[in-house]
Amino acid sequence: MNYQGILNEIEKEIDLKNFDGKVASYIPELAKVNGEKFGMHLYTLKNGHYSFGDSNEKFSIQSISKVLSLALAFDLVGNELWDRIDVEPSGDPFNSLAQLEYENGIPRNPLINSGALVISDILVTHLKNPKKDFLAFVRQITNNPTINYDDAVAKSEKKWGFRNAALINLMKSFGNIENKTKKVLDFYFYQCSLSMTCKELAETFMIFANRGATLETGERIITPSRTKRINAIMQTCGFYDEAGEFTFRVGLPGKSGVGGGIVAIHPNEYSVAVWGPKLNPKGNSAIGMTALELLTTKTGYSIF
Ligand code: GLU
Repeated sequence: MNYQGILNEIEKEIDLKNFDGKVASYIPELAKVNGEKFGMHLYTLKNGHYSFGDSNEKFSIQSISKVLSLALAFDLVGNELWDRIDVEPSGDPFNSLAQLEYENGIPRNPLINSGALVISDILVTHLKNPKKDFLAFVRQITNNPTINYDDAVAKSEKKWGFRNAALINLMKSFGNIENKTKKVLDFYFYQCSLSMTCKELAETFMIFANRGATLETGERIITPSRTKRINAIMQTCGFYDEAGEFTFRVGLPGKSGVGGGIVAIHPNEYSVAVWGPKLNPKGNSAIGMTALELLTTKTGYSIF
């Protein structure tokens, strides 16, 4: 497959002028990002790297980090996880409070904010030094010791994270949060502030395309069975209330973040990351969705 040729075509066919969207502004630090950025990196199991545009520029991965914290929590507590979080698509915005109230503080899935906050609570309980240990886990997966949090983004979100504070307090009232809410929120904001390039993101998510093992070192991070389950959750819940649309248009498991990144994987084939900070009304990168739709259309392969 001529992946570089296909990526070149995608870059050429996509005209930034056709995408309105807005850079996320509810986290003031993210509002500073240039909306015209666009980059893509594809990493194949045959160890090929293909890219274009701003693929080597760091951006805030935001909700994409929820897949990584889920992987670590799943490893730490196993199926106990599912006593506290469900695995159903929410059909609601990522930061919605409504369902939590009538579903007794049990989040619909681990990839919306409420579910990710319960995962953060689990990590705060089980890790000695949560921020440091989680970062070490991400660096181990990526085989890259330079990956780091973005302090300014974490502090900016902490200052304005009123909805996340509301979510965690509501869950605490139902008994679904064990630790002090302030401590859990602090961990969550740092987790979301992880900064990566498209290349680093594609490298990080390679484990989900490679049955839970890293490609570089062959180290097993997650069991194949748990990898299957996490991929299934990405497929059904990875795009807020647009998971159906992403599945329909792209046909790969993936996860988006309000920093404008999207990562997707084709099991046993590749992982791919795309970044375009302007978001559609559902909070997903408009240009990112189109780029990935073109990728599976032009290659003629998706998981379906
Ligand atoms: N840190 C963001 C929040 O909690 C993540 C949202 C996202 O990327 O979907 O609002």
